[in-house]
Amino acid sequence: MTRDHFRKKAVRAHAAGTGRTFLDAATSLSLPVSGDDGTVLAARLRDDLVTALDAAGWPVVIEHHPQFHALLVYAGPASIHVRRDAKPPSIGTGDEHPDDPAFFDLTAPLMVTVWAPLIVEYSDALDRVVGVDAHEIAATLPPEVIVAEIDRVVGQARRREVAGTPLDATCGICGDDWAGIGLAQPARPRVAVCPCCAFDGDLLGAEPGKLAFDLDQASSQNLAVPAGWAGVEAVLRCLAGPGLPAWLEEDWRRAGTVYRPRESWGGADRMWVWLPPVARRPAALAGLGCGASLARVVAAVDQAHPDGRERFHAHLAQELEIEVGETGEEDQVPAEVVERFWPAVVAYTVGLLTQQAERPGQRSPWHVLESLELSEWAEILAPNLDVYPAETLLHGGIITVRELLVPIPSRN
Ligand SMILES: [Zn+2]
Repeated sequence: MTRDHFRKKAVRAHAAGTGRTFLDAATSLSLPVSGDDGTVLAARLRDDLVTALDAAGWPVVIEHHPQFHALLVYAGPASIHVRRDAKPPSIGTGDEHPDDPAFFDLTAPLMVTVWAPLIVEYSDALDRVVGVDAHEIAATLPPEVIVAEIDRVVGQARRREVAGTPLDATCGICGDDWAGIGLAQPARPRVAVCPCCAFDGDLLGAEPGKLAFDLDQASSQNLAVPAGWAGVEAVLRCLAGPGLPAWLEEDWRRAGTVYRPRESWGGADRMWVWLPPVARRPAALAGLGCGASLARVVAAVDQAHPDGRERFHAHLAQELEIEVGETGEEDQVPAEVVERFWPAVVAYTVGLLTQQAERPGQRSPWHVLESLELSEWAEILAPNLDVYPAETLLHGGIITVRELLVPIPSRN
């Protein structure tokens, strides 16, 4: 009894500390997925999947309250449900826990079902449902195998949507053809632009809240969003820092919408980055799936090329020697600026490499280097920031990391 008391106390503390329900915490704290009596626990399988997803580089958010009689995990663009292959209770609200014996036979097998993106809908233009629509995976497979299957179906759907979405719009700055869903309107007056032109100097009246809203909505509804938006999203996050979700919530509320920013706006690390198809993927990213969290992508680039930041400084010194003959103190990029914006450098470079590989018929995306003017954006999101070193880092950093990831073959 005493032992039970302490266990309950531990469960309550864990539940309070993590935001989980008591039952959800209790079922996964101490019990195996399968018991001797034939019970199988959804919470343990969910936790094992979270561990495997994290190991594979996916950014994960756990929904701690059951919905649709299932435990939910949001992993990058995918939603994953763990539920019981059993008739749901005739009375109930849908938020009954699949491990609650009052509602479910705990020996009934589990099911894993995947959707992507967040909102899967029928497309009139394509005359079919887009994305991954309730793809079921055998719950008896090892968690790593389930995660590999999630990666396979999400990557396959991404390739299908990128190839199949018609290019029915044009970037208002560079004139390249894009699908309308792939463009955003980041400034006043409203001009729809591509990822390479979001920070172009010809766009006046920056509206970071509108840009973030467009990107949030697009990636929630479509798997074919241009990969280069990762760089733009990362810049917004690196400028605003951890206060960005609260700032966006207020901005969106004032604009009259009830949507709330997704949790991943809380930091550059947790955002999703689409990676180049395997055949055109840089060696540094070979261990990852169809996409990964920016934290994992930065770590992979750092591991393969630990001298990346030094190479950037060398590149900058070389450029300055050519232009002005000497390196003046005012032209240096301080270490804290490098650390703060390095994730954005990597996100831009990898996102645009993906974009280039996915759309081989389109113009090269590297004209982005002519469109990295952040002063209006910094005035709103980071008023105390000296923007010139950050712009210098983005420009030189993208060139440097691109050369590290995709070396130009020797012509000799
Ligand atoms: Zn453009």
